[in-house]
Amino acid sequence: MSLLVKGGTVVGPTGIRVADVLVEGEKIVAVLDPSFSPTITVDEVLDASGKYVIPGGIDAHTHMELPFGGTAASDTFDTGTRAAAYGGTTTIIDFAVQRTGEVVQDGLAAWHAKADGECHIDYAFHMILGGVDADALKAMDQLVTDEGITSFKLFMAYPGVFYSDDGQILRAMQTARENGAMIMMHAENGIAIDVLVQQALQRGETDPIYHGITRPAALEAEATNRAIALAEVAQDCPLYIVHLSASQALEHVAAARDEGRNVFAETCPQYLYLTLEDQLGAPGFEGAKWVCSTPLRSKHEPHQRDLWKGLRNNDLAIVSTDHCPFCMKDQKELGLGDFSKIPNGIGGVEHRVDLVFQGVVDGKLSLERWVETIATTPARMFGLYPRKGIVQPGSDADLVIYDPNGTTRIGVATHHMNMDHSAYEGVEIKGRVGTVISRGEVIVADGNYHGRKGRGKFLKRGLSSYLM
Ligand SMILES: [Zn+2]
Repeated sequence: MSLLVKGGTVVGPTGIRVADVLVEGEKIVAVLDPSFSPTITVDEVLDASGKYVIPGGIDAHTHMELPFGGTAASDTFDTGTRAAAYGGTTTIIDFAVQRTGEVVQDGLAAWHAKADGECHIDYAFHMILGGVDADALKAMDQLVTDEGITSFKLFMAYPGVFYSDDGQILRAMQTARENGAMIMMHAENGIAIDVLVQQALQRGETDPIYHGITRPAALEAEATNRAIALAEVAQDCPLYIVHLSASQALEHVAAARDEGRNVFAETCPQYLYLTLEDQLGAPGFEGAKWVCSTPLRSKHEPHQRDLWKGLRNNDLAIVSTDHCPFCMKDQKELGLGDFSKIPNGIGGVEHRVDLVFQGVVDGKLSLERWVETIATTPARMFGLYPRKGIVQPGSDADLVIYDPNGTTRIGVATHHMNMDHSAYEGVEIKGRVGTVISRGEVIVADGNYHGRKGRGKFLKRGLSSYLM
């Protein structure tokens, strides 16, 4: 099966040009000057004139079916990866979980069992370590060597669930420094946050907004700074701060990067667009829709301005979603009368490509940075490059034909995620995902779905190719 994507404007991290993309089977075999293409015979031609042709999106942070707070994230690998495909994402990296007291390899096996045969697009795993001990450290080596899992997430938050103390973090970092893996960090001071949460509840402050108020930016910044210091002690172990939301945390990342350190960070669309007051502070229990950690930040402080700036200058390397959807009914409602019992998470895997493109429309990002932050850098950061994340010969034919003149209106009536609400209800984007191709196969065309569950493959990843 051969395919020619004809007449589009191919966007990559280093530039833009009108070119035809020739696909044979699952691979891109040529990116051609359009004057060469008429001599080629193919099975199918897709007209992309007037549109952008970009590498399929890579969402490096999702939580399908994650058990949390007595329930589980409402998207399965089936529903979540199908929704991702609709939104122009052709690869996800989800988080397999080891809880305290569990064997790391058992946690990984459980995640394979959930995802195997269910995914519509390609997928890989990071490993959450919830119990760093001698066995877990050995398991890190084994996962890097044998399982294609080259990044490990630790938590400075959630005591008693995922939390690691500084000694455990340092040991994991030293191991990663040896085996080449990346340490990913949920950087919030969870011990101090738990004190603030208890004090708030004792005062009768139970509404969703107190979730944000009890997780102040200072405690994200403190933990970010501490993680950076621990990574320095571990001989500059590569460190990646997940879901960075606060200006003060970004300052620490920027300072470390100015020193030439292997310190990286992602942010998420919710922090670029939504706020503590307007969403988390919505009347009644409505704000529960936007309970996530790190929390949405105050609109009276310059967080969003700083995050966009960080994306422009690469102090923020990646936009991921931290997709972790919970329905209001029976799930978020667990926290009625007690914000600390609201499951933490926002669903957004379907909207990331569009929401970051809106930054291009608004003049905050270049087209090249759009592609870099949603596809190319995730591939390089997490050992999938050049198989993924770039439109070039030899790479997987994961392509999105994106219409800059189209419109996307986000809402629960039209989205494909398994959620009974949308975090972005009514938001209108200038731009629209047109055709989505995954390993040479058209899986979405003009809003119609042609993919199928089980076609997505597990990707064993190599080491990061993004280190300084
Ligand atoms: Zn997460």
